[in-house]
Amino acid sequence: MDRVEDRTKERVTIPVIGGGWAGCAAALALAKAGYRIALYETAQDLGGRARRVVRDGLPLDNGQHVLLGAYAETLRSLAFVNGNVSKSPFVQRPLAISPFAQTQHDAIMLRAWRSPPPFALFAGLMSARGLSWRDRIATARWFARLRKGGYRVGAGTTAAELMAALPTRARERLLMPLCLSALNTPPARASAQVFANVLRATFDGADGASDMLLPSTDLAALFPHAIARWLAANGHVIHLRAEATIVGTVERSIVVRSEDREIRAPAAMVAVAPHQLSRAFGPAVRADESIACAIREVDRLEWEPIVTVYLGYAESVDLPAGLVQLDDKPGQWIFDRRDILARAQAGAPALAALLAVVVSGSGAHTALTNDVLTRDVDAQLRRLRPTLPRVTWSQVITEKRATYSCTPTAARPHPGRLTAGIYLAGDYTDQEFPATLEAAVRSGRVAAEQLARDVGS
Ligand SMILES: Cc1cc2nc3c(=O)[nH]c(=O)nc-3n(C[C@H](O)[C@H](O)[C@H](O)COP(=O)(O)OP(=O)(O)OC[C@H]3O[C@@H](n4cnc5c(N)ncnc54)[C@H](O)[C@@H]3O)c2cc1C
Repeated sequence: MDRVEDRTKERVTIPVIGGGWAGCAAALALAKAGYRIALYETAQDLGGRARRVVRDGLPLDNGQHVLLGAYAETLRSLAFVNGNVSKSPFVQRPLAISPFAQTQHDAIMLRAWRSPPPFALFAGLMSARGLSWRDRIATARWFARLRKGGYRVGAGTTAAELMAALPTRARERLLMPLCLSALNTPPARASAQVFANVLRATFDGADGASDMLLPSTDLAALFPHAIARWLAANGHVIHLRAEATIVGTVERSIVVRSEDREIRAPAAMVAVAPHQLSRAFGPAVRADESIACAIREVDRLEWEPIVTVYLGYAESVDLPAGLVQLDDKPGQWIFDRRDILARAQAGAPALAALLAVVVSGSGAHTALTNDVLTRDVDAQLRRLRPTLPRVTWSQVITEKRATYSCTPTAARPHPGRLTAGIYLAGDYTDQEFPATLEAAVRSGRVAAEQLARDVGS
């Protein structure tokens, strides 16, 4: 599907329900295969959980997101729609992990090298600060064993069990925090297999897979708007503020209703979040055994929140480059978001620095009010760096259902055909990656390819 099929004259319309990253990716793949797309999104803008959120004139996004060089499908889709735009929407840097403050004595400082995988990681580990030589070698051996076993781990194993053989500091200050941020699930409950998949894709994948991609724009402009622009320019239709429901099948056509209009199509793509799945079908369709089974599976999934605390300062604050680690009390990672200030709208507060502090997964912090959490995070940063200037602006963005809880036993529907004519995409359907932007985009492409194979021209 890397070229565009020219079947513009006899185009069949395929409704795509859900305008998050999965729905946008599916729409693009189907459009490239020659179908006419009708994309439906309930919200007033595309993007879903990775959407633009503007507060006080600052385009903050719906919480801090990190993209990696391993996001091959996402990068491929973007290269296609941005083909003639010379400026990359990312700044790409080798993965680097540093502590926020010198006072974090147990912290680890690591820089992945620009060399072919897995040497990038091994060289990074060997030169890591905060680990003894014995720990560096034991950690490298642990990786080598995982690699030798083809990154396959026993079914039902948790990430904490997988990491039990690691030296304590490498486990607690490096691998466990990476697991929590990648799977958004505490290692004691997280799937070891999915974590191993992430390690393979990031540290043993293509050249540059472990690089961090820092977007130079907001999340909506980065992917959904870029795809929407391409779709609109090629004659496809995007309906915003338009909830759509598959209400039935008539003469082998799928009937999709949005407001008071119905369209009939040979197939439809459903790319909504798991908790929205049931609502995307009318009662007659929910009675289908395959659909009922998928709904039962997603109903059993548990959710993990992600909280991002944005702190603005009137004076500049310098952070090391890359991923900057806190001490988990309560903030886990901190990001320099001065790029947001450069895109501030008229009337935005005058700030010299904007930091985003992330707390992934469930924990005591979720019971706190925004004011108390902001105070706690500010106190944490000051404890670590007493010279920090006073906070002059703040905002908390909480997504209670950021991702499903990625446990070893969480059975999830696969991307692709759910039942005759109905196809499923979404971050929760990818079986290899945890709930991420890349999982969403991969699922969209996989489901679109199956639909195109089944429906043909
Ligand atoms: C705070 C936060 C931080 C995150 N950090 C990262 C990160 O660092 N890196 C990373 O890779 N991932 C991260 N993620 C995860 C990532 O955002 C999600 O995996 C991804 O956005 C999911 O995309 P999706 O298209 O599968 O689902 P969604 O984004 O949920 O999209 C579903 C869309 O369908 C629409 N919809 C639902 N029902 C209907 C209907 N009946 N009709 C029409 N439209 C409908 C919804 O409005 C929504 O727009 C983070 C998520 C959050 C919340």
